[in-house]
Amino acid sequence: MAASSLIVSDLTGRGNCIDQPGKGDLMTAIRQIEGRMVLDSRGFPTLEGECVLEDGSRGLAMVPSGASTGEAEALELRDGGSHWGGKGVEKALMNLRGEISDLLLGCDALDQQAIDQRLCEADGTDNKSRFGANATLAISMAVCRAAARSRGLPLYRHIGSDESPRLPIPLMNVINGGAHADNAVDVQEFMLAPIGFGDFPTALRAGVEVYHLLKKRLKACNLVTAVGDEGGFAPDFASDELVLEELVTSIQEAGYTVGNDQQFSLALDVAASELYGDGHYRLGSHPEPLSSEQMIDHWAMLCDRFPLTSIEDGLDEEDWSGWKSMTSRLSGVRLVGDDLFATNPERITRGVEEGSANALLVKLNQIGTVSETLHAIQIAADAGFRIIISHRSGETEDDFIADLAVATGAGWIKTGAPCRSERNAKYNRLLRIQSELGDSAPIGPLKF
Ligand code: PGA
Ligand code: ZN
Repeated sequence: MAASSLIVSDLTGRGNCIDQPGKGDLMTAIRQIEGRMVLDSRGFPTLEGECVLEDGSRGLAMVPSGASTGEAEALELRDGGSHWGGKGVEKALMNLRGEISDLLLGCDALDQQAIDQRLCEADGTDNKSRFGANATLAISMAVCRAAARSRGLPLYRHIGSDESPRLPIPLMNVINGGAHADNAVDVQEFMLAPIGFGDFPTALRAGVEVYHLLKKRLKACNLVTAVGDEGGFAPDFASDELVLEELVTSIQEAGYTVGNDQQFSLALDVAASELYGDGHYRLGSHPEPLSSEQMIDHWAMLCDRFPLTSIEDGLDEEDWSGWKSMTSRLSGVRLVGDDLFATNPERITRGVEEGSANALLVKLNQIGTVSETLHAIQIAADAGFRIIISHRSGETEDDFIADLAVATGAGWIKTGAPCRSERNAKYNRLLRIQSELGDSAPIGPLKF
């Protein structure tokens, strides 16, 4: 097994045993749990969890929500019915204020793993469908923040170990197609990867400059520059190749170099489960349906023609044999499992054993607790997989994932275009962390 390049700390055992919550006068015991409905970036309800400890430390956390969700994801509990278009979270909120609160009051917030385990056991389902993963995650993250406050540590120091933290390289989704757009582009997300810069602020600046130049160029061609849910543009390009050509030109015109080992490379999120049906893939650019091998041929062709260093969900989430073949054929590319793994330790273990994918996309709400997320990261990192910490298309101003990326030393973060405040909340948090750590804080993974 390859040595882990990541520093995922063990959040177990820091606190006292919580077998008998409510006993004693522990200052880090949970005194109060609250929750409320708040709105996400698409104007849909989501949950905010709140946790107060005996010493007065308070943690707040909001959960995000996906649109192209994987089948294997933990369940986001919605009310149905007519209010909020069926997307109300009243049931999840009642679970948070009722059963979950009763379960966790008196527990030691420093023992995150015991708290999360208690949540999983009391929920009793494989996919958090009784409490709702939105309810479990809201409180799991809120507890984590309260514990960090109590220890007087920034969140990334509380979650991470004492080793030097690393800032992530931002993967910036600047052009959208697929199910996220009304154009002829098959791929869902085209991302800038500012890989050749010495620190996070410089990488961010370069990405922002390219983003603005791209907007100017689209405008000059009378293409639409309204932004989508993740801040990217969705102009009416005729093919994936034309988008990639445009990105290469924009990067160069902004004064930067582009190539696999240059200042910028490019990354895709295909979200191929959206293109799959009846054993075949359907691409707008191909009149005939494609087999897995033909899809891999297509990505191989694009990798030959363009500086693509990362392809997410290039095949369907249940096409395990296709993934295995793609991973051996395109071994020089980061092949990222999002829907494939759903941040689920069992699915990641299968991927490691079968050689399907070589990188993990991490979304806290796909699994529903902080500890299980860290466990998922650890399994993948121990197997030598690359790790990308990710937002969802429906987000809030919560910036937990910025700290998570630094704490784990993942080296990569995917949090949209540098536009829309719920996306920039994460970039801005990373800038603050950079100020705290100083100019010498390293950027990127230990191992590309
Ligand atoms: P989602 O999209 O949050 O809507 O699932 C983002 C992604 O596929 O990575
Ligand atoms: Zn994805």
